[in-house]
Amino acid sequence: MKISVCSARPILVPCSLEGFDYQVDPYVGCAHFCRYCYVLDQAETDWTEEILIHADLSSQLSDELEGLEPQTIYMGYLSDPYQPCEAELRQTRTVLEILLARGFSVSILTKSDLVLRDSDILQKMVSASVSVSVAFNDDRIRQLFEANTIETESRIGALRKLKEAGIGTSALVCPVMPNITDPMPLIDALAPHTDAIWVYALSVQGQSPRCWSNVREILSRHFPDIKSDTESAVQDSDHPYWSGLRRDLQEVKRSMGLDLRIHV
Ligand code: SF4
Repeated sequence: MKISVCSARPILVPCSLEGFDYQVDPYVGCAHFCRYCYVLDQAETDWTEEILIHADLSSQLSDELEGLEPQTIYMGYLSDPYQPCEAELRQTRTVLEILLARGFSVSILTKSDLVLRDSDILQKMVSASVSVSVAFNDDRIRQLFEANTIETESRIGALRKLKEAGIGTSALVCPVMPNITDPMPLIDALAPHTDAIWVYALSVQGQSPRCWSNVREILSRHFPDIKSDTESAVQDSDHPYWSGLRRDLQEVKRSMGLDLRIHV
């Protein structure tokens, strides 16, 4: 993977997610290479070949935080802060050190267990939290859609260790791929290690045409028998697949007493 340096780009940027004023993405691009990734059309480089890092992360971020009240910063919106190159480059750890020194906290979304490396910093922050997303029960299928991520089981193991370390945890079952993702076993496995679970459908409305064409290509090649029904469900939120799933999820939420947020 080629790592190039970008400059003259803000590191701390406004965040559109409810509850957060700012987000930080230590990397531009993401080598997890999820085929359904909605950020793909904003990519400046081919993420399979090249990832960008900020020229002087430390001093630039320190300058940008100047005068800001301590608050929780979101990390993981446009790229995964714990994608493979973080093990060596430690850009995310640098961001966490800077934020901790100024009394800030973070809410992190990742698909990697590398986040465990930074538990020591997260434990010192006020109410830091980590969310892990999972979408596939079968490891062979996961590799079709998310070539460079780690297996689902390891992500759930990371949540368990984070929770044991006293760090706030939550999970996303996302994206639910109709007829492929089986959300119930994932929820069962996640529930003991999370404070809340969000379930999101694969959504292509208003998203990158590139991510949808990538998914369709995988469906054609590997799931010809269910391709047509899966495509219909993805395009129609009233499809019987979703109404059945909504009913099942409501029942699980009630019977297990889970904080389950249903967005399918
Ligand atoms: S981990 Fe997130 S940002 Fe990275 S490729 Fe996958 S969906 Fe995109």
